[in-house]
Amino acid sequence: MPEVRVRFAPSPTGYLHVGGARTALFNWLYARQQGGKYVLRMEDTDAARNTDAARRTIFDGLHWLGLDPDEGPEQGGPVGPYSQSERQDIYARSIVELKSTGVLYPCFCSKQRLSSLRLSQEAAREPFRYDRLCRGLTAEDIQRHTAAGAVPAWRLRVPEGETVLDDLIRGSITVNHADVEDIILVRGDGTPIYNLAVVIDDHTMGITHVLRGEDHLTNCFKQIIIFRALGWDVPRYGHLPLILGPAGEGKLSKRKHPEAALEHYIARDFHPEAFINWLALIGWSFDDKTEIMTREELVQRFSIERVNKSGARLNMEKLAHISGDYIRREAPEKVRAKVCEHLVRGGLVKEPLDAATEALVAAIASAEQERLRGYADIVELARWVFSDPPVMEEKAQKNLTKEPGTAAMLREWAATLSDPLPQVPEMEAAARQFCEARGMGFGKFVHPVRAAITGRTAGPPLFDCVRLLGAARSRARLEHAAQSAS
Ligand code: GLU
Repeated sequence: MPEVRVRFAPSPTGYLHVGGARTALFNWLYARQQGGKYVLRMEDTDAARNTDAARRTIFDGLHWLGLDPDEGPEQGGPVGPYSQSERQDIYARSIVELKSTGVLYPCFCSKQRLSSLRLSQEAAREPFRYDRLCRGLTAEDIQRHTAAGAVPAWRLRVPEGETVLDDLIRGSITVNHADVEDIILVRGDGTPIYNLAVVIDDHTMGITHVLRGEDHLTNCFKQIIIFRALGWDVPRYGHLPLILGPAGEGKLSKRKHPEAALEHYIARDFHPEAFINWLALIGWSFDDKTEIMTREELVQRFSIERVNKSGARLNMEKLAHISGDYIRREAPEKVRAKVCEHLVRGGLVKEPLDAATEALVAAIASAEQERLRGYADIVELARWVFSDPPVMEEKAQKNLTKEPGTAAMLREWAATLSDPLPQVPEMEAAARQFCEARGMGFGKFVHPVRAAITGRTAGPPLFDCVRLLGAARSRARLEHAAQSAS
């Protein structure tokens, strides 16, 4: 058996689609499992879109995912260059070979002729397909056109018969060649059309398995016909199911769904291992129940046979759940560093941190670790710490005005606070005594005090919050809340 070689072949459009990220992952998993190679090929022939920034989003995105390729534009490798824009010489050589097989024929049809053909086929409600006029040109016809200065495009002479694709995911699919158009493969300027470039690349890069989105299924038949025309070995194909929007609606597009772009997940800073775990479960499952799996487990367990055929919904709640789980199990130092990074980026703390701020950040990280789904959540979760008085949520404000005597209670409790504050258990015991002495339930204490301290109705344990602020800031907040309390 030859070494397994797979590739991820994105077009740099300015962002990395989450479906592309999944394609990269499945290829990577398969290569790692089979002890093969995973190649990155940049399909960057669209010069207008092929900016350095667009290429960068792909390199950076793969790096964030921990899916750096074994061979690629940055790494180099034995079958480079790895960007289509740099492979024109390779294409030119293969095109000479292709022409010599007679599988290409020159087409001199003008744009006008092709567009009126399209119009008449549309009017007749027929699918648009080139009518193969130039297939019948004689050597003299060709000579005449060329002498008149016409430059042909070159079309694929689709042979009679059929092509059977034995897809690793979708099973056997047969296409009758009568339904395949004689597409242009080489433009007038000698450059290859996309489908030809892909075939030449997959062949010259020694690709054995192609796992890609099902939107390439129709291209696949054309590509197989070209492979066969050239007498080259056809790789095995597996077409991955489409990714549907979060509500199960149509295809995921960046215009409608911010979740389509990897940058969305990077910005929220989900735990990358959790993200990989979740991504693997979009259209694949191990056993219909196991959800949490490490990267190593995924490598061992991945199987193309268990990839679904039908479209897979993007389940954002599941991602939040898995990422929350990974973050809860993460080492406190790691969480602290991430929390610090996001608080700085969110403008809540300034670098360099003094000792007091460092202690504060550590306290915030430990208080909020449990609630984080993505590390960037910390900016909103911890905002209450940084504004005096805190922004008061409507629901929290209501907790200040439910019971008569709340203002007095807040002031009295404030008067009991002084630095250094006791540890949480002692503080709680004192607060319970405080309530007993007033003949009030603990609940009537906790809700207004939480509102006063944090401006919110939910958050870390209350006395952790108080300790985080220290006695002076806590007292000031209690006094401020008392002014609008009943
Ligand atoms: N460049 C294509 C895309 O970004 C992928 C082509 C392929 O995998 O064959 O959709």
